Amino acid sequence: MSKENPFLLTPGPLTTSMATKQAMLNDWGSWDADFNRITAEVGDYLLRCANAVHTHVFIPMQGSGTFSVEAALGTLIAPKQKTLVLCNGAYGQRMATILKTMGRPYVVLDKGDFEAPQVDEVHELLLADPEISAVAMVHCETSSGILNEIDDIASLCRALGKLFILDSMSAFGAIDIDVINTPFTALISSANKCFEGVPGFGFVLAHKQHLQHCKGNSPSLSLDLYEQYQYMGKTGQWRFTPPTHSVVAFHKALEQHREEGGVAGRFERYLSNRIRLVQGMRALGFKTLLEDRWLSPIITTFLSPDDERFDFQQFYQLVKQQGFIIYPGKLTQCESFRIGNIGQLYSEQIDAVLVAVQNACSQMGVVLVKTEEGVNQ
Ligand SMILES: *Cc1c(COP(=O)(O)O)cnc(C)c1O
Repeated sequence: MSKENPFLLTPGPLTTSMATKQAMLNDWGSWDADFNRITAEVGDYLLRCANAVHTHVFIPMQGSGTFSVEAALGTLIAPKQKTLVLCNGAYGQRMATILKTMGRPYVVLDKGDFEAPQVDEVHELLLADPEISAVAMVHCETSSGILNEIDDIASLCRALGKLFILDSMSAFGAIDIDVINTPFTALISSANKCFEGVPGFGFVLAHKQHLQHCKGNSPSLSLDLYEQYQYMGKTGQWRFTPPTHSVVAFHKALEQHREEGGVAGRFERYLSNRIRLVQGMRALGFKTLLEDRWLSPIITTFLSPDDERFDFQQFYQLVKQQGFIIYPGKLTQCESFRIGNIGQLYSEQIDAVLVAVQNACSQMGVVLVKTEEGVNQ
């Protein structure tokens, strides 16, 4: 890798393998049986990852991940149903914005930038407002990197008969999720996150029986999961032009996911990347936004050093010149930046990015002060 072809330490698009890139060198007909078999195999694999083969169906959707979130909220929740959106960052906020744009009733529990929603407070809100019949939340909130606890909230929703819609965009594929422990109505993710495909489509694992009742819910023609599923069931094809190259690349990426040991294998690699990165950054004098217990293996937010010579734009360029793309912060309250661990990254790249960060700081004349704690709190 080089300045022209840097490693992406970002939460998708991310660095893909050569085999995944090479899978895109052929052209495919969208009606062709071989291509349709590939779509079906992708769906089988993803359902197996969540242990949801018997209860859920796979529905892919063209576009970036947000298109699938919008399709899921629009199709799986009826127009008059009220949704409770649990927010602790930008992606939770985005679900609220989608509901607002569609004119759907919703309420928000907003925990700010770095606190996780708790099952007790969700329970109280559901008891206080019986009109709420769906709960939507994010699994790994990529804006801070926090890994939310979802199992108890999902089980509560099932016990109370509420829908549970999970944006697991940046977690599914690397964080274990089993429909028995986390009874979700729908799980949403996309091709270019932990499964390490290229961008082009997202997908929803939707509860089969529930989906049967969702005809006519969607306010959108193209983002209608019910119609996409019906059409696929009848023809084996996507309803409108599929991102063929992205789908075959994803199929190739899933082969590598399986070879790495599936979800558990990928988790191991991302976690060891994260541990190496955070240890190294703390040794340099950086602090993480979150305490260790909330850190995900996906992406970590670091606070910008308390030195006026630190300038993120300059820092970004200096790190990029050494072959790494990092990510700006997405916090409302403090200066920060993020470094991701997902994609084709191994200990070698983590060590090299630590050197790049150190070089960039000394080029800016930033003095890093090491402290015992290494955490914001
Ligand atoms: C990446 C991501 C999305 C989708 O973002 P797009 O830019 O539309 O692909 C949604 N939710 C979370 C938590 C994400 O990390």
